[in-house]
Amino acid sequence: MDKCCTVTLPTEMRDVKIQNYINGEWAAPSSGAYLKNYNPATGMEIAPIPDSKSADINNAVAAAKSAFPMWSNMPGVERAVILNCIADLIDQNCEMLAKLESQDQGKTVVSATAIDIPLCAGYFRQFAKYVTEGIRETESSMKVACTLSSINMMVPSSQLATTQHVASGVAALITPWNFPLLMVCEKLAPCIAVGNTCVVKPTELTSVTTYLLTHILNAAGVPKGVVNIVFGSGVNAGEPLVKHPDVRLVSFTGGSVTGSKIGAMAGGLFKRVSLELGGKCPSVVFSDCDLEHAITTHIRGAYQNQGEICLAACRQYVQRDIYEQFLDGFRKQARQEICVGDPASPKTFYGPVVTSQHMEKVTSYIRLAQEEGAKVEFLVNPNDPAIMNVSDDGRLTIKGLEGGYFIAPTLITNIKQSSRVMQEEIFGPVVCVVPFDTEEEGIQLANDTKYGLGASVWTGDQTRLGRVMRQLNAGNVWGNSWLAWDDCMPFGGMGCSGTSREHGPWSLEFYTETKALYTHRM
Ligand code: NAD
Repeated sequence: MDKCCTVTLPTEMRDVKIQNYINGEWAAPSSGAYLKNYNPATGMEIAPIPDSKSADINNAVAAAKSAFPMWSNMPGVERAVILNCIADLIDQNCEMLAKLESQDQGKTVVSATAIDIPLCAGYFRQFAKYVTEGIRETESSMKVACTLSSINMMVPSSQLATTQHVASGVAALITPWNFPLLMVCEKLAPCIAVGNTCVVKPTELTSVTTYLLTHILNAAGVPKGVVNIVFGSGVNAGEPLVKHPDVRLVSFTGGSVTGSKIGAMAGGLFKRVSLELGGKCPSVVFSDCDLEHAITTHIRGAYQNQGEICLAACRQYVQRDIYEQFLDGFRKQARQEICVGDPASPKTFYGPVVTSQHMEKVTSYIRLAQEEGAKVEFLVNPNDPAIMNVSDDGRLTIKGLEGGYFIAPTLITNIKQSSRVMQEEIFGPVVCVVPFDTEEEGIQLANDTKYGLGASVWTGDQTRLGRVMRQLNAGNVWGNSWLAWDDCMPFGGMGCSGTSREHGPWSLEFYTETKALYTHRM
């Protein structure tokens, strides 16, 4: 194995001491202040987060700016070697990264091991491949541009017209807490692959694995200043980063309200900006669907990762003639199969929500549904010996984890489409199931929120499947499935779910500037 490709990381949370990573060195925040951080399964304090401010951001941007000429001029194949090394190190440390991700975020170790961490490594490999092979692709697109130039009256045939994709400069990468390391790697891999340098500002709620990544980057031989990671809050660290005059590009994933602010700040300063925002994703289930498959998938869509997925299937519209049958199956299967509890246990379907504040937010929507007269059911398994109590608003007390932020799998029916519960992103294990009659009504209800991130359609009629999928206003639409995934496909939302498309070639497009070059043929 290559010498660069080994790293020793802390294996226990108590050994993690989070520091900023600026110009290849670890440093305490200039203010000396730290934010508190908690394990959501226990409520116990874990590694505190640097409360970084403008001074730290200024240092990080300066380091990124000074590394940019070297990194952007390095041949893509050499950058690719480093990216592949990062991927290898992530893979080698998968088990430990998954364990600490779970302790920081609340997701199960099983899902972090199977999904989050392998996808992180995959992004680095994918973009290493793009920059290695993409060099040839750029040459061929240049030939096409040359040919076109000869038929373009504006470009005399004595001119050679070509395009060039160049790195933009210093990028700001700002990420949320539901897939902490994954969201960072999804942005970081394409960003640095094409030659940008960057400052990453991960969420202050789940920073642990991103801090561990700094050690991986260092061991992989990422030159000083190429990737700088500054921890802290949105207001103290995020805003100065977005506004910094030397930041040319901002890639943001998070809530729609924050996205709107960041879009305004960055757009007003003429920065390239990508916004991947919240969702309130519908599914439209017709009576001719494979009901068993639909129920199983809708339970996963509603509750996987505690419902903390921007693409969660949280509004489920079911055709009236199978509505009661769907609900009966959903209730029965959810009670049997969903085990809420210790995220480290392989038996657990989902763990605690991320913070006590988030538990307050989610349960406030449950109380609102109750106040509005909706029917609210908590689908806990009555025979689960670990569940000591279910409160009126769905909080669970789990034996041995009494301080954790657990919420029952919640099913809401008899709710109005206009309710805030149906219109706003809850981002927890709460699903609304509502009947509809006609295809037109199903489509109309599905499209009736300000969001447009994901949607799914369920029917055995192939013609209807295509027809309805095309009419749903969402960036990602699934037919008879949910969350089928291909990293080479465009990802993004419509409306309040975002303004951009990332992943694969779309990320390459976003993280580069395209220049048109006209050269007089001698
Ligand atoms: P958030 O908007 O509160 O925070 C996201 C990030 O922005 C954090 O790092 C935060 O510190 C930072 N931030 C906050 N205010 C800022 C400001 N004024 N200036 C600069 N930075 C600021 O979101 P969250 O609660 O961390 O994440 C949950 C949200 O993310 C949900 O809405 C979810 O749907 C969304 N999400 C979207 C996608 C997607 O791809 N569309 C993926 C995952 C999560």
